[in-house]
Amino acid sequence: MSRADSPSRTALVFLGPPGAGKGTQARLLARGLSIPHISTGDLFRDHVEKKTPLGLTAKAFMERGELVSDEVVNNMVRERLQEPDCDSGFLLDGYPRTLPQAEMLKEFLRERSCGAPLVVNLGVSYTESVKRLGGRRICPVCQRTYNLVSQPPSKDTVCDDDGAALQQRPDDREEAIRERLSAYEAQTAPLIEYYKAQGSLHEVNAERTPELISEELMRVIRQ
Ligand code: ADP
Repeated sequence: MSRADSPSRTALVFLGPPGAGKGTQARLLARGLSIPHISTGDLFRDHVEKKTPLGLTAKAFMERGELVSDEVVNNMVRERLQEPDCDSGFLLDGYPRTLPQAEMLKEFLRERSCGAPLVVNLGVSYTESVKRLGGRRICPVCQRTYNLVSQPPSKDTVCDDDGAALQQRPDDREEAIRERLSAYEAQTAPLIEYYKAQGSLHEVNAERTPELISEELMRVIRQ
């Protein structure tokens, strides 16, 4: 049996609405566990920046706050999961986001004789999501994330670390936020019941400080 087929592979999935803090927590946890953090949003943004054919397909959907088609996302994720750094596990952030995507992941893990993924749902209310996303600003140089309301930079709207002018993600504009939240309700929220029925879901209250959430995530993983 190759390492890629090892049942000891840790497959972690972060669910939660936009603005739940999945990216922040996923980066920390993946580093702590020495497994790759695979964010489909980041993969798409990278393709958009490099103007690849995939990026050109995804860009318009992303800017409107709509989901990219399952076929496109599934192919991109399947390819990424076949890379050798995923042999001993991976953390998926922003995937699956629809039932057909969850089915593709199940099939991928089944082909490799792996069990069900460990799924964590980071729960935040609609009002809190809107507040967090509307205030989010990102440093284009070091990618550090700020929030103009809860974690503002110390000077104006420039990065504390490198002085670069902070930017707003195109999909953090008001109309796109509303669209993302309704796509979440219609297409992603049903995954909570899907994974609950399989006994692989852990609920984490994400309306607390990042430190408290991190501690709880570590406890869930160790169990
Ligand atoms: P969010 O902060 O809304 O969780 P992400 O950074 O994860 O945003 O994703 C940004 C955008 O990329 C989404 O609004 C969507 O257009 C696209 N996207 C990311 N992951 C997926 C996915 N699994 N299925 C379809 N579209 C996706």
